[in-house]
Amino acid sequence: MTQNARQHLTRNEELIFERSSPGKNGYQLPELDVPEIDPARALGEERVRGGIEGFPEVSEVEVIRHFTRLSTWNYAIDLGLYPLGSCTMKYNPRINEAVARYDGLAWAHPYQPQELSQGAMEVIARLEDALCEISGLDAITLQPAAGAHGELTGILLVRAFHQARGNPRKHILVPDSAHGTNPATAGIAGYEVRNLKSNDQGMIDLEELAHAVNEDTAALMVTNPNTLGVFEENIAKAADILHAKGAMVYMDGANMNALVGIARPGDFGVDVMHINLHKTFSTPHGGGGPGGGPVAVRSHLAPYLPIPRLRRAGDKLEWSSDFPESIGRVRAFYGNFGVLVRALAYILAHGGPDLRNATVDAVLNANYIRHRLRPYFDLPYDRPNMHEVVFSDARQAAKGVRTGEIAKRLIDYGYHPYTVSFPLIVHGALMIEPTETESKLELDGFIDAMIAIAHEVENEPQTVLKAPHRTRVSRVDEVTAARRPVVRWTPEANIAPQTTAADLVGAANVQRPE
Ligand SMILES: *Cc1c(COP(=O)(O)O)cnc(C)c1O
Repeated sequence: MTQNARQHLTRNEELIFERSSPGKNGYQLPELDVPEIDPARALGEERVRGGIEGFPEVSEVEVIRHFTRLSTWNYAIDLGLYPLGSCTMKYNPRINEAVARYDGLAWAHPYQPQELSQGAMEVIARLEDALCEISGLDAITLQPAAGAHGELTGILLVRAFHQARGNPRKHILVPDSAHGTNPATAGIAGYEVRNLKSNDQGMIDLEELAHAVNEDTAALMVTNPNTLGVFEENIAKAADILHAKGAMVYMDGANMNALVGIARPGDFGVDVMHINLHKTFSTPHGGGGPGGGPVAVRSHLAPYLPIPRLRRAGDKLEWSSDFPESIGRVRAFYGNFGVLVRALAYILAHGGPDLRNATVDAVLNANYIRHRLRPYFDLPYDRPNMHEVVFSDARQAAKGVRTGEIAKRLIDYGYHPYTVSFPLIVHGALMIEPTETESKLELDGFIDAMIAIAHEVENEPQTVLKAPHRTRVSRVDEVTAARRPVVRWTPEANIAPQTTAADLVGAANVQRPE
């Protein structure tokens, strides 16, 4: 491809406001052949909207091209591997999108009478059954809208359970390998957070645990597989230690992609867990769109589940709020219904054996990456992993290159970065989750890019330190970019590597984090 052609395909773009010229619009109509009516007189002043100040006046094709071109600036799962660890950025089959758009489902209204909503309710009921089966638990709510929302719901159930026995208890134990939302949830639910140090294999230390648990412990919140990509092998023994003191085991099941069809949390002592439908079960995510964080429980927590709950009355389904011990609603209506439809479509389209295969492939892919990158990157917990693998930048740091810089260089190679500097117990972490949907060819391309960067760090570290080189904008001050985004591109702002926000907007305009 010639240089010109490439420039054409990736040319820079004014703001739509800057394309505006007065009087331009997106339609052409013939002259009126009837008397003109004043809309304010016909409809009433209050029903007529005035002009919108500064609204861009552009033609139809300008709108189409502007937004189509902008859409090509993004990296997306439809373009390639998206190895963001802990996020399960897998490709979601289009068929599940098609099912979610069926008229009867997409246009169902939550205020429709129950007799006319039996199909939608059946979708919900079947998904409840499937997720109970997958988790090995007894009852479930589909209301929570995301993982963290599910965590809060689950811990409120734990609190209600203890409260009903006279004492909500005081603290929640959280291993240092937990996802950051876990301690945040425990805090918001009114519990003190006690940190548990992991052992040298990256797992819960049973002795530490036995030491820490007492009659004030409400629950252990454990991410499993944990954020090191390690399965907590002693989870059943840990559960026994907690149960002996009347405490619960909360499992953060956002990483359920590594367990579906292989292991059921209900079988290894978990009392309550959430599942991220937008990770494992086919809702695309990353853009802040709707999600689903169902919470499954053992039967002793079921009385506290949010209302309304579905129940079968003969051959009909009905919503019931007749659960006096319920913690109440956690969300309007019945959760994000479109997300529930996708999840059920995904589960039914696969069937049990193929759900299991997806899990096996996710684990295989992550282990393949571990195996091939091991000679080049430090591996602090060197054992077979589950769905993701966590390296550290220890070797590259000796050359002055850190995980964030390696990630930025990866962009030049055409890949979305992995998760940087998380989990916190690995200093300089590179957290990589390929998911099951990537072929060996795609994985090899990514691995080759990582190896090439490792060589660059040895031979020409400046190339990596100044990356990315092939993007419109290179380095910006990330904190300021988030707080005071500069969205306009101008030739003057053709940003040189290492340009800070202060260079762009003037030091006086740059806010520092408090
Ligand atoms: C993603 C994730 C969460 C949070 O889920 P949200 O839907 O983003 O609220 C919690 N725990 C773990 C382990 C996760 O990976």
